[in-house]
Amino acid sequence: MIVCKSQAELEVMHRANQVVARVLTELVDKVQPGVTTGDLDRYAEARVREMGGKPAFKGYRGFPASLCTSLNEEIVHGIPSNKRHIAPGDVVSMDLGVLLEGFYGDSARTVAVPPVEPEVARLLRVTEESLQRAIEQCRVGNRVGDISHAVQSHVEQAGFSIVREFVGHGIGRELHEDLQIPNFGSPGVGTRLRTGMVLAIEPMVNMGDYEVEILEDRWTAVAKDRRPSAHFEHSVAVTDEGPWVLSAPAARRGATVVADDARRAVGASGSLS
Ligand code: MG
Ligand code: MG
Repeated sequence: MIVCKSQAELEVMHRANQVVARVLTELVDKVQPGVTTGDLDRYAEARVREMGGKPAFKGYRGFPASLCTSLNEEIVHGIPSNKRHIAPGDVVSMDLGVLLEGFYGDSARTVAVPPVEPEVARLLRVTEESLQRAIEQCRVGNRVGDISHAVQSHVEQAGFSIVREFVGHGIGRELHEDLQIPNFGSPGVGTRLRTGMVLAIEPMVNMGDYEVEILEDRWTAVAKDRRPSAHFEHSVAVTDEGPWVLSAPAARRGATVVADDARRAVGASGSLS
């Protein structure tokens, strides 16, 4: 069952997602050589709790941490560790979920530690652009396939590949609600979007082949060919005024961010930047 949210519920979801956005923005500054992914996880959990939220991933189906940290060839669901030190050149994806006032927020970003190879910079840029193109499709009357196609076409035109094993999802009082949002598909097909739907859209893009392997920890998904992978995610509400990016940071920061007032900007011009 697809649950559409009222305006009041969307406001709560915005608050939950703003906790996610703030903590992710702070984490981006913490990603430095020598820092461990365990450090990032502890920081994330402490900040989420300080802001009155509960880390959504900790204990979810047995996941042991508050933050997913996936480095380089790791795609998603990497487990933070005190032994995993970030090194120059690493590609670091961070995925954070928060429960606040009964609703979930979910967002992810990927950053690279200098020196960054040009092809890695392009991978990150294309992945984020594909998310922005997907967000532009989150309009009443469009279909899920329009979102999927926006991601896939942009990524494949750039010569990268879309991970098939994991998809975006509805979100609300549950972390994963009905409506799957694949990052591949055809336009004009699938469920029609309605006012009040909230979608966590999360392209996972591999530099090489899209095939995935799960490591022995039974969580970490890696690119089978061990080439780098990137992941960006936003929780997006479908509204009569256009897409509302609930997890967009309040202030623009670097290349990773869709401005918080993008809701109106998108509604007005159909363009995110
Ligand atoms: Mg996520
Ligand atoms: Mg998600």
